[in-house]
Amino acid sequence: MAQAGPEGSAVSLVRVEKLCKTYTLGKQQVDALRDVSLTINAGEFLAIAGPSGSGKTTLLNLIGCIDTPTSGELVIGEDSVAGRTPDDLAELRLRTMGFIFQTFNLLPVLSAAENIEYPLLQMKELSRSERRKRVDEYLEVVGLERFRHHRPNELSGGQRQRVAIARALATHPRIILADEPTANLDHKTGGSILALMKDLNRTRGMTFIFSTHDPSVMDMADWVVEVNDGILTEHGIFKTWDVREHLASLEKAFDDLLSQAFTEMPRPEAERKREEIRRRTTRTAAPAADWADQTLMR
Ligand code: ADP
Ligand code: MG
Repeated sequence: MAQAGPEGSAVSLVRVEKLCKTYTLGKQQVDALRDVSLTINAGEFLAIAGPSGSGKTTLLNLIGCIDTPTSGELVIGEDSVAGRTPDDLAELRLRTMGFIFQTFNLLPVLSAAENIEYPLLQMKELSRSERRKRVDEYLEVVGLERFRHHRPNELSGGQRQRVAIARALATHPRIILADEPTANLDHKTGGSILALMKDLNRTRGMTFIFSTHDPSVMDMADWVVEVNDGILTEHGIFKTWDVREHLASLEKAFDDLLSQAFTEMPRPEAERKREEIRRRTTRTAAPAADWADQTLMR
């Protein structure tokens, strides 16, 4: 069930065909992914949603060539990934993928600038001054110029994730894979990280694939797919930016009207009514909250 892109002519960047991943745990087999098919085009901002244990990390790791599938095909750009040597895969990861993790994964002994520079050291074609230039550029992109000499433990969670974003971008990858990038951040900081990612997607055309179980995070995606028990069960609504912005202003106007309509009603009841109306009007699929974890940071 390959998904057509937003436009017929869109460039397919990742194509996943009947991908399966089975882990063996002692005598037990865990089917982490079953027959997942998906096409992701350049420039998309895609959320992989689903509860904990559903297979999100497995899918991202397969797309990122960190892990290999049990069966099925993965095509990055024009090329199938099957049969590549570990060295080839390492090169593909370095040139094509940027990774952002839930726990930031920064090297604690390195400064912010050094963490961003670290993957660039593997790109032998870059001179020292070119590396420095890129580090400066991406420190600025994430708004951390003043923190360049700070080590991770001298930075807040949100700042650490900004360093990780700069590190992911600095190699000029074609795809950024972010595994629950906001899960260890408070709601407001998580929102600002997502806003930064979205801005990079819009202004630079960076392709983002991120996983989340937070409904407010998936609400920011242009396109949502849902994984449940290893099965890609739903292709969510694709919304282009124009439509999204239009919808956002309509929703806001609608919300204002609702507030006025419910001023007489006790607050919990008014909230419930508003939520009900919001669900009916803004989502065609089951509300995300129905299958989200209980650990949301709403
Ligand atoms: P999510 O990221 O959505 O929480 P995962 O992709 O991490 O889900 O896990 C999907 C399923 O695969 C879970 O049942 C998990 O326990 C299992 N799993 C993940 N990694 C391994 C592993 N290395 N060995 C065995 N089972 C695993
Ligand atoms: Mg996970």
